[in-house]
Amino acid sequence: MKFDPEILARKNILDMVPYSSARDEFSGTASVFLDANESPYNSPYNRYPDPLQKKLKEAVGNLFLVTEEKIFLGNGSDEAIDLLFRVFCEPGKDNVISIVPSYGMYRVCAAMNDIEVRKVLLNPDYSISASSILECADTRSKIIFLCSPNNPTGNLLEISEIKTLLMQFRGIVVVDEAYIDFAGTEGTLPFLKDYQNLVVLRTFSKAWGLAGIRLGMAFADERVVRLMTKIKYPYNLNILTQELGLKMISDKEKKDRWVNQIVLEREKMKNELGKFEIVDNIYPSDANFLLVKVKNAFKLYNYLKDRGIIVRDRSGVRLCEGSLRITIGTHEENSTLLKELKIFVNSRS
Ligand SMILES: *Cc1c(COP(=O)(O)O)cnc(C)c1O
Repeated sequence: MKFDPEILARKNILDMVPYSSARDEFSGTASVFLDANESPYNSPYNRYPDPLQKKLKEAVGNLFLVTEEKIFLGNGSDEAIDLLFRVFCEPGKDNVISIVPSYGMYRVCAAMNDIEVRKVLLNPDYSISASSILECADTRSKIIFLCSPNNPTGNLLEISEIKTLLMQFRGIVVVDEAYIDFAGTEGTLPFLKDYQNLVVLRTFSKAWGLAGIRLGMAFADERVVRLMTKIKYPYNLNILTQELGLKMISDKEKKDRWVNQIVLEREKMKNELGKFEIVDNIYPSDANFLLVKVKNAFKLYNYLKDRGIIVRDRSGVRLCEGSLRITIGTHEENSTLLKELKIFVNSRS
């Protein structure tokens, strides 16, 4: 199907003239900068950051083997999600489709932008069915949000179903791959060349250990990236974030070591948690967390909380009834959790 982001996008976004910063109008080298009303003191932080994020984009491009025109960098992937709404969804008129259960930010951004969310329940085994998602779409459906590995269920979504959606849906298909490093597969980035309506989200918040600096990525057709870039805040990535992102990329073996360690611990935790009689099910995980169905989720959650161990209670979420989402920590943190679990079980028997 022919994909034209300009037909899909909101007219006001296509028509508007973007903000032009001092650094947009002059980006060469000079020795005296008197164009941006910056302070001459407190170097280097007196200067505005690079609005085009040239160095960081080059590094990200080399890392993921994607050309720079197809890369959007944002203040977390949350910024990319919000901008996709603002580029493509007409408030009060358009709708998006989200799988349930999934990441909460799609729904929140939709509400902020006055966009209807059409929810499609996952199958009982947490897989998706492209046909039921497509059935839900109409001419006002602009974006389908997929998350793989999915949060909070932990599983990768089936590639063949994602491809069906990419081929048959005329709007944008977002695949949020925040947890892909833990899955041992390369994900959907290689599909970018074949599907112009694909947007792949990645983040530095999980595997890279940089949730605190807010750095997210969207990989997409250059026309989609251009529209997102047009409406972003000019200086959406501050100097510290750009510098630390670059530094971390140059040390990417460290990230790989962390990922290996976490995956190892995940498998150990799965094994250990499975020995508890109060554990009814541990769902297969391709991420850095385990969704664990237990006999009395609320009671256990509160018990752990009182012992200073915080997990996520997902028992109120559809298809996750009675389940806690447990992030994999260091070996020591995981052992502490197991130790407290044993005390909890013994105190009740
Ligand atoms: C944690 C998470 C993110 C990360 O968002 P950032 O804004 O980049 O920190 C994105 N998507 C999902 C599904 C997540 O769970």
